[in-house]
Amino acid sequence: MNTKNNNTSFDTLCIHGGFEMEQHHAHQTPIYASSTFIFDSAQHAVDLFTGKEHGYIYGRFGNPTIEQTENKIAALETFLLNNGNGEPLQAKAILHASGMAAFTTLFLSQLKQGDTILSHYSLYGGTQEMMDKVLPLCGVNIVLVDCKDINVLEEELKTNKSIQLIHLETPANPTIQCVDIAAICKLARQYNIKVSVDNTFATPYLQQPFKYGADFIIHSTTKFLNGHGTAIGGVLIGTDVELMNTKVTKHHRLLGGNSNAFDAFLLNNGIKTLALRMDRHCSNAQKTAEFLAAHPKVAFVNYLGLATHPDYLIAKQQMKNGGALLSFELKGGLEAGVSFLNKVQLCTHAVSLGTCDTLISHPASTTHTGVARELRLKSGITDGLIRMSVGLENVEDIIRDIENAIHY
Ligand SMILES: *Cc1c(COP(=O)(O)O)cnc(C)c1O
Repeated sequence: MNTKNNNTSFDTLCIHGGFEMEQHHAHQTPIYASSTFIFDSAQHAVDLFTGKEHGYIYGRFGNPTIEQTENKIAALETFLLNNGNGEPLQAKAILHASGMAAFTTLFLSQLKQGDTILSHYSLYGGTQEMMDKVLPLCGVNIVLVDCKDINVLEEELKTNKSIQLIHLETPANPTIQCVDIAAICKLARQYNIKVSVDNTFATPYLQQPFKYGADFIIHSTTKFLNGHGTAIGGVLIGTDVELMNTKVTKHHRLLGGNSNAFDAFLLNNGIKTLALRMDRHCSNAQKTAEFLAAHPKVAFVNYLGLATHPDYLIAKQQMKNGGALLSFELKGGLEAGVSFLNKVQLCTHAVSLGTCDTLISHPASTTHTGVARELRLKSGITDGLIRMSVGLENVEDIIRDIENAIHY
């Protein structure tokens, strides 16, 4: 199927995008479990290495299972989008061993000693720690500001000439805060600065950051794209295909955070049901959030589908729906939260998100233990906050489980 065909629907592209039939006509993209690939001739080897001919060389660089999955993801992130000249927007995706590996390739290929990343202060714990603890060792500085305030952002860009990249996570983990991608990209362009967006929570089904001018998109494919919790993975997608094919590919190959055929196979199959799953995730999350918001023992609920969420309007502007993630705090704070976590039976108490089943976790004691308490509180991650990734179970069963666990 021609995945560049803009007449295809998104849900159809989830299934057929990226597929290329192999020589035996396998109906599913096979798992190419081979660490190296055979050259036809000395010239063939030269042509593959110089990029004159497309093909496979060595497993760390890629293989057909990985490439078909990359092409599917690139097709979804550029679905129905045009470049400035009215032509279909092109993008290249590079699959990685994890979301963190994709970040490593992005940051190390785009930044050098003395450069600064500007970001919002509500981030995935691992991203935050990487910025705090690893990147400074490479001489890359981090500035975290309130990216919801465009004036604060502009002031920072005006005064700090070392900023080379703005990294956004929207919606952000686990407070479900959103920032205005279009407004920030517009400002970044005036200062000739690139913008990367972590689109893990929304997926391209709910939000396409390229539509609003982002240069790079990152996913932890471990989450909704895989959807079944079967493999860790990450992807880096960029619209500057030339840059992706040269500098970024070089970093991907040399840093060694490559994906593998089996994980790519699981991911490729998972994405086939992405649209269906996201619709159900969103409707289940909406009903669960409404239930929690109306419960007398619940202090507050963060969910983008509730008009009470401070970023409800930004979300409406750039997302198709509220997503699967919500967080809340019980009136009894930390103690009530711990009791709740110990009492749920259907909901699974585990970190991660985006799987078929409902996952709940306590960020302060798990994903964000590495983040200083002051910074954690500043980004809205209170001691008793509970995060839920609402799954695909029957929503009445989810709500019953929560209701039983709240009665401590
Ligand atoms: C999980 C996650 C990551 C990190 O991805 P891994 O696959 O665990 O390396 C990054 N960003 C967000 C928003 C995540 O949820």
